[in-house]
Amino acid sequence: MADLGERALIHRITARLTMPGWVVVGPGDDAAVVEPKRGSLDVLTTDVQVEGVHFDCRFVPPDAIGHRALAVNLSDLAAMGARPRAALLSLVLPGQLDLAVVDGLLDGLLALADAHRVAVVGGNISRSPGPLMVDVTATGTARRRRILTRAGARPGDLVYVTGTIGDAAVGLRSLQERADIDIGPCEQRYLRPEPRVRAGVALAGARAASACMDLSDGLADAVRQVADASHVGITLDADALPITDAVKRWHDDRGQDAAAAVLQGGDDYELLFTVKPAHRGRLRPVRHALGGLPLTCIGVVTKDPRLAVRCASGVRPLPEGFEHFRS
Ligand SMILES: [Mg+2]
Repeated sequence: MADLGERALIHRITARLTMPGWVVVGPGDDAAVVEPKRGSLDVLTTDVQVEGVHFDCRFVPPDAIGHRALAVNLSDLAAMGARPRAALLSLVLPGQLDLAVVDGLLDGLLALADAHRVAVVGGNISRSPGPLMVDVTATGTARRRRILTRAGARPGDLVYVTGTIGDAAVGLRSLQERADIDIGPCEQRYLRPEPRVRAGVALAGARAASACMDLSDGLADAVRQVADASHVGITLDADALPITDAVKRWHDDRGQDAAAAVLQGGDDYELLFTVKPAHRGRLRPVRHALGGLPLTCIGVVTKDPRLAVRCASGVRPLPEGFEHFRS
């Protein structure tokens, strides 16, 4: 399995699946969409958080584990333009786990569920011979012509991102390094990410976006996935990336190029979406619905399938791994 790699493994599994006609969106997007009854769409997603893989109990408190476990699922629903409704919670718990950890985990998960009016309607508990695992399945609803997928980007579309990027990766690194003096907000972004449910629902409602995806694995990864699914290229503008002063300073202090770093950093749970130029006006009601959350144009979709970043020193290929843009 280690030799195969994640993408090949997913392909090995999905190649064996057959999709009945009522499956509107199958594997390969942020969430699945099914239409069990004509005119009524359910959006389904599942995601597990594993101790030692997705979180480190030394600096992630129990409520943040619970919050993150639900947030990553709500983020995937948001990326489809779905309104979240219900969740199932499967807990795999080490036998010696302190009950206070379970209570704290539920505090974080239920507070976020409440904030988004998500009902936790069931689940399962098992003993773990090793790490703590929190597995959440979430469902949402959407209207057929409002579903946002990764596949709708067309040449000429503008590429946008919600919020600011790179904060969570700095937060995680600072928690790991314990060098956490004045970057409280970044740590918060890592520990308790705010899924962009309102943004996803508003973008879908206004029919403003042609494609959408969440940034769970970083901006560069999302750009690659949307371009792949839509059979297009994307050129980003490094200077346009919405990066906070704190994140810029953090990278500057370490001699790193902030733009290059935030392309790679994950865990932001912002949305990447594309907008047809003629539909830019449709972002007005979306911005209104979102209050202060910035929507920033960071690039353009191209017919040329290459993935690139325009920066001061010219146009560079989108980095695969961490790279510096400065020459
Ligand atoms: Mg996703």
